[in-house]
Amino acid sequence: MSLTGNPHASAWLRAALANDRLAHAYLLTGPRGVGRRRFALEIASALNCLADRPEERPDHTCQQCRMIERTVHPDVRIVRRAPERRAIHMRPPNPPGPQREFADNVEFIQADAQLRPVLGRRKVYIILNAEELAQDAADRLLKTIEEPPRFVIFLLTAVERGAVFPTIASRCQEIRLRPAPRAEQIRDPAVLERELGHTRQLVAVLSGTRLERLLVARGLSERWTNQPETVRETLRAWMNWWRDMLLVQLGLGERVSHLDPTARSSLAAVAGQVSRVSARDTAARLQQTLADLDANVNPRLALDLLLLKLPAIG
Ligand SMILES: [Zn+2]
Repeated sequence: MSLTGNPHASAWLRAALANDRLAHAYLLTGPRGVGRRRFALEIASALNCLADRPEERPDHTCQQCRMIERTVHPDVRIVRRAPERRAIHMRPPNPPGPQREFADNVEFIQADAQLRPVLGRRKVYIILNAEELAQDAADRLLKTIEEPPRFVIFLLTAVERGAVFPTIASRCQEIRLRPAPRAEQIRDPAVLERELGHTRQLVAVLSGTRLERLLVARGLSERWTNQPETVRETLRAWMNWWRDMLLVQLGLGERVSHLDPTARSSLAAVAGQVSRVSARDTAARLQQTLADLDANVNPRLALDLLLLKLPAIG
């Protein structure tokens, strides 16, 4: 399975949770900085979140979510190589080093995994950079990964599957995380300036009257005849803004493409007034409208409908 950017990863996670289709071990692969650890914590939070409605998990606000984000949840254990050691070993160092917010060995897991969760619903072992497991540590881990108790889930991260011991990798379902393509583009300042103009217009429309919305729709549909690319650019900028909004709402604001402080503060201001479902639906509707316009639907009708259905803010 291959997921591009965090909105896709989050959408996959929601669907997997809703259908109760989670495996007992995952290997999250992708380049450094793509958000493997972040996504592992996201899964751990979703599994233990206290939000009533499963589709709202993780809500990033309940006690379980907050403890997991601060990596102090007793049922979510992070294992990684200690900076002063060369690998993730089977046993802790002797004599033991300083207390840390992570474990640097896997020996404790076999016994610990048999004990029911203390606070949460599921126990999660997150093993960061699993390619750094020493051979004996990997062998020991294998015993538990093969058949963990049903309340246990393993989340391993690695740059690529091939770097992990095949005995371990073969027990895990792989989830490939890829950076969102637009984050990698070098952006033309003139394009960026126009995009800012588009998003300013969008924010104004959200608090505008029905008439103001229809006037904007009329302007766009008239332009569609002679300057379709300008209209596409506007709708794409709006779509990206709503996707960024979703990231902000998911607590992943650092991935937002709009680096301009004004655009950032407009995102933050609206994020609290619009539900996540509504932000997601709006991004999807913009994408659909772009496709509809290119399929020669009546532009005036499509754009009127789009503008009227945008969420309203106070
Ligand atoms: Zn929560």
